[in-house]
Parts: sequence; C-alpha cells; structure tokens
Amino acid sequence: MPPMPQTETPGHDLIAKFAAIVGDEHAVIDPEPSAPFLNERRGMFHGRTPVMIRPGSVEEVSAIMRLAEANGTAVVPQGGNTGLVGGQIPDESGSQILVALDRLSRVRSVDPGNDSMVVEAGVRLADARASATAAGRLFPLALGSMDACQIGGNLSTNAGGVAVLAYGNSRDLVLGLEVVLANGTVLNGLRALRKDNAGYDLRHLFIGAEGTLGIITAAAVKLFPRPKGRCTAIVGLSSPGEALALFHIARGLAAFELTSFELMPRICLDFCFRHLEGVDDPLPAPHRWYALFEVSSGRSARAARADVEAILVAGAEQIEEAQTAFTDEDSAAMWRIRYSLSDVQRPEGVSIKHDISVPIGAVPIFLEIAMDAVTKLVPGCRPVPFGHLGDGNIHFNVSQPEGGDGQAFFARRDEINRLVFEIVAAHGGSVAAEHGIGRSKRDLLPSVRSPAEMDVMLKVKTALDPTGILNPGKVL
Ligand code: FAD
Repeated sequence: MPPMPQTETPGHDLIAKFAAIVGDEHAVIDPEPSAPFLNERRGMFHGRTPVMIRPGSVEEVSAIMRLAEANGTAVVPQGGNTGLVGGQIPDESGSQILVALDRLSRVRSVDPGNDSMVVEAGVRLADARASATAAGRLFPLALGSMDACQIGGNLSTNAGGVAVLAYGNSRDLVLGLEVVLANGTVLNGLRALRKDNAGYDLRHLFIGAEGTLGIITAAAVKLFPRPKGRCTAIVGLSSPGEALALFHIARGLAAFELTSFELMPRICLDFCFRHLEGVDDPLPAPHRWYALFEVSSGRSARAARADVEAILVAGAEQIEEAQTAFTDEDSAAMWRIRYSLSDVQRPEGVSIKHDISVPIGAVPIFLEIAMDAVTKLVPGCRPVPFGHLGDGNIHFNVSQPEGGDGQAFFARRDEINRLVFEIVAAHGGSVAAEHGIGRSKRDLLPSVRSPAEMDVMLKVKTALDPTGILNPGKVL
C-alpha cells in the first residue's frame, strides 16, 4: 500500500492559509459540486474539494506543498481536465485540495538556435504549438484535446497523439523539467541539452506519473524544423488487415515523413454525420474501414503530395477508394472527423472505453477477436474501435445497443472490460496505452505489472512522497 494522507476535511484556518498563498481572488472555497473542475468531462468522475487554488508562480506551488505536507493535506494537481482516467479529479471525501495550474501560462523562452523552448505547465498545448510556429519551428505534440489540455497534463500523462510515428510520445519531446516535490523542494532540471548522462535521469520519473510524484511547473521541450509541406489522404478499405498492409507500404515509401496513420471503422463516420455539423462523406461510396494518413515533407508540399500519390499507387491492391486533400481546408476537414470521435460517441449513449495497445502486426487479429467477442457477450452493442494504427494503439470503445438501456449496458462494464483485457493480454498488449492509469485502472495495475515492478514503484512513491499527499488513490 502507498502511504496515505489525512482523510479529514482541512479546517477553516488551514483552508484560509492555502487561499492566502495564492490570494483570495485565485481561490474558490467550498465550490459547488457542479463546478467544471470537479467533474470529468465524460461524467465518469465527480469529486469534492474544500478549496481549489490557482498558484501563479513556482514559489506559490512550493509554499502550497510545504503547507500541505506539514498538515498531511492531500493535493490533486489539475491541468486542462481533459484526462480520461479520472486522475485530475479529487475523490468524494472532500478532504483533497485541488491545485489548478492554468495560471502558470508563460512561455518563458524560445531558442530556435537550440531548437528548444521553455514552457510553464499551464500553457495550453495549442498555445505551445503556436509559440513554436511563431519562431519558425514545430512543436509536434498533437491531440484532439489540444485547445484545452496543458503541457503539465500532457507530460504527466505522457500523452501520445497523432504524430507519435515520427516524433515519439511526450516523453521523447522533453529535455528538462522543473518540478515541485511533495515537501515543497523545487527540483530545477530545466537543462536544454541533447546529451547529458550526469547521474540518474530524474525527468523520466515525473513524466507519466500522473501527479503522484511531484507537480511539474515548467518544461524545456524539443522543437523541430517546420515541414515545408504536408499532404493528407483518406482511404476506404475492406479490413484492418488491408490497412496494416497499406501502413507498411506507406512507411516503406515515406519513412519518418509518414507522420500519422489512423484507423477508423464506418460507424465513426456515421456518428460524425449524425452529430457534427457540416461533415460530408469524404469518399463517394461507404467503406467498412478507413485509414487517414499524413506525410510531412522537409522539402516541399509537392514532395509530400508525390509521396502520398506513390503510396496510393503502391497500395492500389489494398485500397478500395481514396481522396487526397488538395488544400489545408480539405486536410482540416479530414482531421476534424478524426479529432471529433470522442465527442460524437456521447450522444449515442453509454460507451465503455478501453485505451489499449498491441504489437502493430497484431492489430487486425485483435480487432477481429475483440469485436466478435463483445458483440457475442452483449448482442446489439456497437464496437467503435479507432486510433493510432501506426502505434498499435486502439481506442477500443463499445457503444450501448442503439435505443437500448444505457444503465443496463453500463452495469456489464466489468464483464466487458475483463473480456477485452484478456484478449489484449493474449496478444502481448497493454491495457493503458496512452491515457494512463489514474483512478479508473488503478486496481488493474498489479495484474499487469510483476510484484517486483510494483515493489519498485511503491518504493519510488514512498521516497518522493513519504506522507502520500500527492494525488492519493491514483496510479497505485
Ligand atoms: P488533466 O486532465 O488536468 O490531468 C491529467 C493527469 O495529469 C492527472 O493525473 C493530473 O493530476 C496530472 N497533472 C496535470 N497537470 C499536472 C502538473 N502540472 N503536474 C503534475 N501532474 C499534473 N491523450 C493522448 O495521449 N492521446 C490522444 O490522442 C488524446 N486525445 C484526446 C482527445 C480528446 C477529445 C480528449 C478529451 C482527450 C484526449 N486525450 C488524449 C487525453 C488527454 O487529453 C491527455 O491525457 C492530456 O495529456 C491531459 O492533459 P490535461 O492538461 O487535460 O491534464
């Protein structure tokens, strides 16, 4: 068991001290349960807190942690509240204070000469990308939630997204971190070096730790040359197996200039037509499966387009129909479909979601077995599996039967989860590919990590957070 903090609600005097650190105008004492920051966007988690505070500097974060540790008060860090495993929401006890990082929103520096920039944790991902663009560089992390999520949240979840193929996960984009520890110590590791083997590489402890080991306050991140041109295409296919074959053709031809390769079944497009204004079918005929891919060229838009055309020619056997984006607007329309897939499932009723990964080559057989198994278990349920085929990462979501009883469907979530996770395990996969463990998968972790690995994780947690005040009940 990890160390546990106080579970009693902090008294008025202590709450007033927390509020005084940030100034009363940046504290919300005893917020309404309906406050957006107490509710996960899908409605899966609803928390309570005696106070939500918004520090405006590293010194304030440090003072908050010193006070919290002295009093055994649990602290939940929150970024853009787009996390999908409940890590950013306090529990229902009303004893955990919420620290929102959105006021740490400065881009401290951009250094095109070093291809790096230093951004504070509360900078929205879209703004970090815009700052890089303004300096003639690319910050490649891209997610459907990028208008809301923040760098601190991205790094704390080791977010993946749609450009992992070429640039890696968030972890791969970080050169250095500034972190406030549970006892208030500021660990300043904001070095922007490509090579630095001086001792243990501490940054990696905090990336993907979901706020359980420290509060990230700033990061030095890598920038890249801006591609000179991009070309996006959407293709209709008969099966994930054909999509996989096309992926290998595309990777073979475009190598690391193939920046995205996404897979979705027809039902995803049908949901978009029903619930998203202004979306047209991208291809004249309906297809069972679709791949959306993008090539980014360091040479020119013409070169990107030539690569896409070469892929379409080489993949003619796999492809039923294809459409290439001729303009940025065409490309944005294609990406709008992909980025909206989380949102368009909501009006279809209850969804049971699994963020899984398997080796890339196993995606087709995994999909075949898992889709067949869930529809046999719950007749009429609608598998909506989509995601980053090029990373072997599928969001294996299952929507309730059309017009059926959502609550009855949700009541079967443990059975459905168990079934899907067994199939994932049988294919050597992960049940937490890019969204993390948070609260929703915490009890699953010991079944997918060995006792030795769990023991080391607990030792790390205890060493960095001996009183267990950082995001208790999450991950471990
Ligand atoms: P939050 O949700 O606020 O927090 C997430 C976790 O990080 C919590 O445990 C929180 O306590 C912790 N945390 C937040 N800030 C800090 C900090 N400064 N220091 C320490 N801990 C902190 N994820 C992907 O990986 N790939 C995708 O493609 C993707 N697409 C998405 C699309 C949509 C439409 C949505 C809604 C979500 C998507 N996500 C995706 C999930 C989510 O956007 C990411 O997990 C994102 O990185 C979370 O960032 P956030 O700022 O919203 O963090």
